[in-house]
Amino acid sequence: MTFSQRHFLGIEGLSREELLFLLKTAESFREISEREVKKVPTLRGKTIINLFYESSTRTRSSFEIAAKRLSADTINISASTSSVNKGETLLDTARSLCAMRPAAIVIRHPASGAAHLLAQLDKCPVINAGDGTHEHPTQALLDVMTIREHIGEVEGKTIAIVGDILHSRVARSNVLALTTLGANVRLVGPPTLLPPEFRLWGVEVHTDLRSGLSGVDVIMMLRLQRERQARNFFPSLDEYARRFCLTTQALAEAKPEVIILHPGPMNRGIEIDSRVADGPYSVILEQVTNGVAVRMAVLYLLTTRERIAAQDRPDRPDRPDRPDRPDRPDRPDRLNYPDRVAEPSPAVVQEISPVLPKRAVGQ
Ligand code: ASP
Ligand code: ASP
Repeated sequence: MTFSQRHFLGIEGLSREELLFLLKTAESFREISEREVKKVPTLRGKTIINLFYESSTRTRSSFEIAAKRLSADTINISASTSSVNKGETLLDTARSLCAMRPAAIVIRHPASGAAHLLAQLDKCPVINAGDGTHEHPTQALLDVMTIREHIGEVEGKTIAIVGDILHSRVARSNVLALTTLGANVRLVGPPTLLPPEFRLWGVEVHTDLRSGLSGVDVIMMLRLQRERQARNFFPSLDEYARRFCLTTQALAEAKPEVIILHPGPMNRGIEIDSRVADGPYSVILEQVTNGVAVRMAVLYLLTTRERIAAQDRPDRPDRPDRPDRPDRPDRPDRLNYPDRVAEPSPAVVQEISPVLPKRAVGQ
């Protein structure tokens, strides 16, 4: 199959096949990070802009490393150093950046929907690196990739997502990805941090940690997002930790071969005990490693599709001329995407993907 999305804004709306295709593509990229020379020429000559309006260590550096391993040039813009401080709107910033013809913009923003807004400009592919409390789709992909490496297919397995679900874009994206792939998802947390609409999404809800962890295959702990909590959702941090901190005792409720994930950054001693975070069931650092492969896959799929499309339709019989640019018949409008990308020809696959097995692009 081909990946037909113009932008990567969320897990919502992705089919099971698309998710599996993304994961498979990411798996084929993981090997590059094991090599001594961790670089392939796939995106040579392309520029990726990381536009970060929220602090981030992990996600920003992960996108940057992913782009660099594909030989793209990267520019990092953070809110503290950009014209945002001078009152420029997000759309004006984006318009200017798009005018420099990047191959993609990766955006992290505190407002839910910011990535969608940028995508509406439709000037270049937009990748959502976390928007408010809405979605963090590459995080969900790296989580599912890590889970599958340990327990195989997630279908029929039980995964508990524990903590501050209400403010978590990681939880939202993971619920969508995991339920689309057929997993049983449990949400565990204090009632004040469980959004009621999740009941409509076919998940179980538990307000007691031990019952929520009983017999689960995977535990995904979430950070308590105090910066997003406009009021008090629980009496005190001590109280929260007493009831919801993942300790070795609470862990005993899960299956013996359980794995533990956390998207980072961790609040040690609040949502997770250090002995658990650093213990034998933790796969937290593997998540970080897989994050690079997932982001390489997303960058690759979004930024090469234009070229695939252009080469497959050299004469664009559907758009013979451009009234606004009659003098440039040789330059079809590169900013307009075709509705669906055609299956690339074997020659194109070879050219754009010297390092990938064919299945990563053409299946
Ligand atoms: N929330 C941040 C991120 O996803 C965490 C970090 O940067 O350490 O990037
Ligand atoms: N790093 C994740 C995010 O940006 C999780 C977190 O910040 O707690 O959403």
